[in-house]
Amino acid sequence: MTSTGAGTVQLHTVDEKGEQIEAAVAQAELAPLLAALAHALGDDSFLADDLRPPLRPAEAEIFPQGGMSAEQQERARAKAVEGVHRLMSGERATRTVPMEPLVEFLTGGAAPEYLPLLRRELGLDGDVGAPGWRKPEVAPDVDFEVVVIGAGMSGLAAAHRLAQAEVPFTVLEKNAEVGGTWLENVYPGCRLDTNNFAYSYSFAQKADWPHQFSAQADIARYFEDVATRLDLRRHIKFRTTVVSLRYDESAAVWRITAEDSEGNRLDYAANAVVTAVGQLNQPQLPDIPGIDSFEGTAFHSARWDPSLDLTGKRVAVIGTGASAYQIVPAIAPTVAELAVYQRSAPWMLPTPSYHEPVPTGMRWLFDVVPEYPRWFRFWQFWLATEGRLSLVTVDPEWDEPGTVSAANKLLRDQLVARLEEQYADRPDLLAKVVPDYPPGGKRMLRDNGVWAEALHRDNVDLVTDPITRITPTGIETASGEREFDVIVYATGFRASDFLMPMEVTGKDGRDLHRDWDGNAGAYKGVSVPGFPNLFLVFGPNTNLVVTGSAIFMTECSVEYIMECLRFSLTEGGRPIDVKQGAYEAYCRDMDRGNALRAWGVPGVRSWYKNRYGKVTQNWPWPLLRFYELSTTFDRDAYDVVAPRPTAQKK
Ligand code: NAP
Repeated sequence: MTSTGAGTVQLHTVDEKGEQIEAAVAQAELAPLLAALAHALGDDSFLADDLRPPLRPAEAEIFPQGGMSAEQQERARAKAVEGVHRLMSGERATRTVPMEPLVEFLTGGAAPEYLPLLRRELGLDGDVGAPGWRKPEVAPDVDFEVVVIGAGMSGLAAAHRLAQAEVPFTVLEKNAEVGGTWLENVYPGCRLDTNNFAYSYSFAQKADWPHQFSAQADIARYFEDVATRLDLRRHIKFRTTVVSLRYDESAAVWRITAEDSEGNRLDYAANAVVTAVGQLNQPQLPDIPGIDSFEGTAFHSARWDPSLDLTGKRVAVIGTGASAYQIVPAIAPTVAELAVYQRSAPWMLPTPSYHEPVPTGMRWLFDVVPEYPRWFRFWQFWLATEGRLSLVTVDPEWDEPGTVSAANKLLRDQLVARLEEQYADRPDLLAKVVPDYPPGGKRMLRDNGVWAEALHRDNVDLVTDPITRITPTGIETASGEREFDVIVYATGFRASDFLMPMEVTGKDGRDLHRDWDGNAGAYKGVSVPGFPNLFLVFGPNTNLVVTGSAIFMTECSVEYIMECLRFSLTEGGRPIDVKQGAYEAYCRDMDRGNALRAWGVPGVRSWYKNRYGKVTQNWPWPLLRFYELSTTFDRDAYDVVAPRPTAQKK
């Protein structure tokens, strides 16, 4: 008998066992299964050249099974069935297959520069990203404390690394639980839109994700479990909202003012502050006349009340971004009428498995084949590593409107062909759903057909007339007023207002928001001149659009911050301040990179751009470059700040 993630499978006879294995392998992602078997059995015949996935570059769709032909898949399945049989018969490795050929097999021979990054993501030889130092060793006598702001995905990563390095720290979290955006966004249909296994920490991998793109509750639970399992909760002060940070030059410490849930003032002091407040947590309500006059129920998508019953209601959803795209199909069958107000249409990437569970065969194999979940996560990670970056890169010679290069046009043609299929019976809708900007200009959504299905429904309208006014009873456009019971503002977040609404005062009384003046920047996404030992996670230019996952960027930033802290500690705890020149050169590099991508071209409006039309959110280069920058602490880019002689910490 073998226990499975999805129940219990009884294996009675050799034949039944064989059938079970074949059925499971038929549902498996083959390339990582072969790597896992080679590893578990110490047999590199699983990595034979004729089994190697060809890894065709991504187009609109990622090619299934790494682009293997049907015939190659058949061979790979037969080999995998043989391997699982051998494992279940008790065979184990008598020799070790080195990691390099395994990684080479899955990545099609990734350039050697990728190997350190891939080693960390794989995590087979331990937690590679863990700090290689501990405070009691590098600075035993230095009195040093860190405050982390936020216990979402980034704050938990920072907390874990600080705990590993035995640096004393406290996490201040405004909510009553960990999880950040995954705790706050509880609208119907909310789920991941990046591959699930790769959306987990390299140091806290998870084998039993129920879906390929998990639902909000499962992801929230993952972060709750991580906080518990890594014993981080004892460091977190919940219901504590940071209001201001002030650098006290005489003591060379940060003074932090917070409020508890009753509005009582709380004061903290810290030698370093790590902000982990996210980019997408300040709801953006639209600037539409009359917005306060509506007498029905109205709220932002990130403020959904789970007890709200929409049955039989007349509902308007304003916006067609990632949030609306999940809400509309989820509520359409329940409501009486649904009007979707679209200002610009979204591009959508075909993703048939978007709502699918992880197949039971895969889950069974995750239990049976040692480290298969790890190799599968690694595979997902690699396929997204440089993802579709080449498809959204601007060719300066290209002049066809609506696209930025020949490859971008190919992508556009494939996506339009799919829309033409989906709306073949509704030319009225087709005319509205084809975007007029280049694919990759905004975040592309995951399409398994449910959006088109929802728009086809008799009770759903896609409204493209601009909204002129919100009235006490509904929404007005040039075609007149329409009445609603509920208005959902799925209108996004104030993403360019980094660290708002906190007041942040640095050296010489410098105000961070005034310094930035809307153009947020940070050296390596982490350091801002004039704000010593203030470190940002998920800061400016760290958001990804068509590559990797946010967790990767966060882990890189946190590892870099740990090296900054180590340096500060070895300098006796004196704060470090990035040099203005290094900061400015870095920001210029971000501008140059973002101008080369579809999201940076003029004429495309999105949350990626600030009020000046500049992209301060996105990382524009290959992921490898961020990894390399984050794993190199460049002492020359920083000044060490001496405290004034009258130093008094508390
Ligand atoms: P968003 O992508 O910024 O979309 C906002 C939508 O509201 C856009 O369609 C925008 O139209 C529209 N809008 C804004 N102001 C308007 C106005 N005055 N009148 C009419 N329409 C207006 O926001 P979001 O959907 O909340 O998503 C934000 C980001 O959160 C995503 O890009 C993604 O990174 C993240 N997210 C992730 C997930 C996930 O992983 N599952 C889910 C949700 C969100 P225009 O396009 O014309 O500006």
